[in-house]
Amino acid sequence: MEEDNQSFFWIKSEGQRKLATENLVPGNQVYKEKLIVKKGVEYRLWDPFRSKLAAAIMNELEYFPFENKTKVLYLGASTGTTVSHISDIVGPSGIVFAVEHASRVARDFLDRVASHRSNIMPILQDARKPKEYFSVFGKVDVVYVDIAQPDQTKIAIDNCEMFLKKGGYFFLVIKTRSIDVTKSPRKIIEEEIEKLKSNFDILQSIDLHPYDKDHGMVVARLKN
Ligand code: SAM
Repeated sequence: MEEDNQSFFWIKSEGQRKLATENLVPGNQVYKEKLIVKKGVEYRLWDPFRSKLAAAIMNELEYFPFENKTKVLYLGASTGTTVSHISDIVGPSGIVFAVEHASRVARDFLDRVASHRSNIMPILQDARKPKEYFSVFGKVDVVYVDIAQPDQTKIAIDNCEMFLKKGGYFFLVIKTRSIDVTKSPRKIIEEEIEKLKSNFDILQSIDLHPYDKDHGMVVARLKN
C-alpha cells in the first residue's frame, strides 16, 4: 500500500515519508504525536512503533477496510492510541465501539480520547462477555482484536459471531508470547489460523517486526 487512499496519508516530515491520519479534532494530540498542517488541513503522524495497525501498513498490509463511515468493534482499546487513528479515518459518520476492561487505562482512554471524539463509544467490559455490551447496535464492518490473552482467538470468534456482518473483516493481533512462551512465533500464528479456518477466509498474515517484536497480525474475512 503505497499511495494515499484518503484513509491515511503519507506526509513528508524531517526528510522522511511518514504515515498520518487527518485529525478529526484539530489541535488535539493523543500520545504526543506530531501535528502537521498542509494546505489548511491538520494531520497527526501515526507511529508504527506505537500502533500495530500502523506497523502492519508499513509491512505491506494488503487490506484496509477502514474508511469514511466504517463501523468498527475494537477489543483492547487500552489508552486509545490506535483507536484514535481509526476514529480519524471513519470520521463523524463512522463509529468505533471500543472495549476495555482495565479501569485504570480505561479512565485515561476516556479523558484523553473518547471524551473528545463523538464517534467513539467506549465500553468498559470484559471482551469475554459480548452479551453485556449494551451499546453496540447492529452489525459492524470490522472487528479488530488486540487483547493479548491466551484464549484471545476464542474471545475474538465469539465477538465476531455476535457482531460482525457476513463478509466483514477481522484483524487479530497475536502476541505470540502471551499464548505459549515455549513455541516458535510462526508455529503459534499457524495454530491460531487453524482455529479460524472454519469461520473465516484467511487473507493475510503479517509479521510486525521491526516495529513490534513477537507480534503478528492475521487479517481474515467472515464467510458468507
Ligand atoms: N490496541 C491498543 C493500541 O494499539 O493502542 C493496545 C492494546 S494492549 C496490547 C491490550 C489491552 O487489552 C490492554 O489494555 C488490556 O487491559 C486489554 N484487555 C485484555 N484482556 C481484555 C478483556 N478480556 N476484555 C477487555 N479488554 C482486555
